[in-house]
Amino acid sequence: METNLESISAAVRKVLEELVEERASLNGSPSGICETIDAAVESAVAAQKRLQEISLEGRKDLIAAIRKAALDANERLSALAVKETGLGRYEDKVRENVLCATKSTGPEDIEPRAYSGDHGLTLVEYAPRGVIGSLTPITNPTGTLIHNSICMISAGNAVVFNAHPNAKETSVETIKTLHRAIVESGGPPGLIGSVPKPTLDTAKELIEHPKVSMLVATGGRPVVNVVLRSGKKAIGAGAGNPPVVVDETANVRRAAECIINGASMNNNIFCTSEKEVIVVDAVADALIKFMLETGKAYLLSPEQARQITEIVVTPERKINGRFIGKNVQVILKEIGLSIGEEYRIAIFEAPKTHPLVWLEQMMPVLPIVRVANVSEAISLAVEVEQGNRHTAVMHSNHIEHMTRFARAVQTTIFVKNGPSYAGIGLGGEGHTAFTIAGPTGEGLTSARTFTRIRRCTLVDSFRII
Ligand code: NAD
Repeated sequence: METNLESISAAVRKVLEELVEERASLNGSPSGICETIDAAVESAVAAQKRLQEISLEGRKDLIAAIRKAALDANERLSALAVKETGLGRYEDKVRENVLCATKSTGPEDIEPRAYSGDHGLTLVEYAPRGVIGSLTPITNPTGTLIHNSICMISAGNAVVFNAHPNAKETSVETIKTLHRAIVESGGPPGLIGSVPKPTLDTAKELIEHPKVSMLVATGGRPVVNVVLRSGKKAIGAGAGNPPVVVDETANVRRAAECIINGASMNNNIFCTSEKEVIVVDAVADALIKFMLETGKAYLLSPEQARQITEIVVTPERKINGRFIGKNVQVILKEIGLSIGEEYRIAIFEAPKTHPLVWLEQMMPVLPIVRVANVSEAISLAVEVEQGNRHTAVMHSNHIEHMTRFARAVQTTIFVKNGPSYAGIGLGGEGHTAFTIAGPTGEGLTSARTFTRIRRCTLVDSFRII
């Protein structure tokens, strides 16, 4: 009799727990967008539990549905991102989203490992973290959300986003689109979520929420420092100032084309884009000539370069935010220069001390510094990278030069003889990442980055040879 009562009360408790979970998930809206951070987190907690009950095949189906939804909505989301933020170029946002939808890693990245030996078998598995809080940048409101959602869910997590306040509409639309795809393919509601109006206050709430077990900051140094101080496991993907070095052994025409394509991509707002060119004197004239022959680069005279610098750099030696991510035509118009739509970038010769050599300009205005030799080029490039450990590029056919630079600069991404974006998988081998964790060392993040490593040891058995 007693046993019966016990089993009945256990069953009732289970039903009640399920009801509470169900309520928590409904507490969030069916779109993934909740009134408060707390509701989004509660909804994510319930959804993550339900994700754990879905088979790995089912999880793969969810990821396939997310990829497809991102591709299907690509044009709409890209147009919205450009309209709302005023940054970048529509056609490049489209390329960014295709890259993120197709080359962000999926569940294949968390395949377990096994060791066998005299003492049996040990299995190493990549377990979910739980609910992740993700802070995303204004520069890539669609790409970062698509990439992070794919990787984080592939690893069995749920994620609550706090997007940049000035990219809220795009972020909400992106989340709704991906959320709908998840639910329609049988996934739990709330697996990704956010609030309609993300602010610094909601970011703080997310960071401090006790049920958020991991934080990911994709942005400038201050936000990376904020999550690192949180006391939680944190991944920081920070700012860069990628130098590109061209030495006398480079295929100079190819270098010129790659630099113009890389630096003008999305109006230079990618954190990986070439931000300053450092070229040895012997090939500097040829490099500039070949850049102009692409038909996409406009060479500023020293006086024009001075005027533009006055406009895009403030007296406090900061980048004037008004020009970040704008088309080159818009920027040059400020000094009365009208140039054709075929131009993608302005270039100019600059001294080493020029502010745009040292600041992350994120606009299509590219300084070119002449130096005497490759040793000077490498030293300057290391200095201007400023220990961000982000990205560096080199055009050279000299193995020793390339090795020296790669060792000296210590960046997360080092691209040889290609545009910077080859380093994030666009025209280069390997997966993509729009959360590139230089400061905390995870590198180009993948599904495995968002896991906890667990080991299971079976002693003295199951070695079959
Ligand atoms: P940002 O640092 O201003 O903002 C990024 C996010 O952090 C936003 O959601 C913002 O609201 C939030 N945030 C900022 N300060 C905060 C604080 N004190 N507390 C809590 N949240 C805070 O960056 P941005 O202007 O949106 O994006 C451009 C920057 O991001 C550039 O420096 C670029 O290099 C960098 N970025 C890096 C990567 C990478 O993977 N390493 C990718 C994209 C962009």
